[in-house]
Amino acid sequence: MFIEKGRYLKLEVEKRICPFCERREVEDETHFLLHCTLYNDLRDEFFREFSNLTHTKKEDYKNNDELLKVILGSEWKGKPNYKQLIKSVFKFIKRSMKRRKVQEGVKSDRLDTVHLPRTKTKR
Ligand SMILES: [Zn+2]
Repeated sequence: MFIEKGRYLKLEVEKRICPFCERREVEDETHFLLHCTLYNDLRDEFFREFSNLTHTKKEDYKNNDELLKVILGSEWKGKPNYKQLIKSVFKFIKRSMKRRKVQEGVKSDRLDTVHLPRTKTKR
């Protein structure tokens, strides 16, 4: 199984003004996943997959919170393509975190501030 049952994606980042872009916003989940310009290209790619999998667009959601609930898994559970969606989110977060680490000058790519479901690699 790709995702352990009952666990959702959870992202915890330090609450400080994001040093990676010019938006001067607190670097929280919303900023990291939806706003930070450091990840624009990765995010565009993610939202293309998101639209294909959910048949919804980010503009379809009332506000960021509603959108984040879907992205972080709790609102799409049991719906079509749920596993693929989580996989796609996982990829986006992993790539973004890696880029973030590079920006910080940290060599390690340990995902120590992101808590993701345990996954098995399919071969
Ligand atoms: Zn930023």
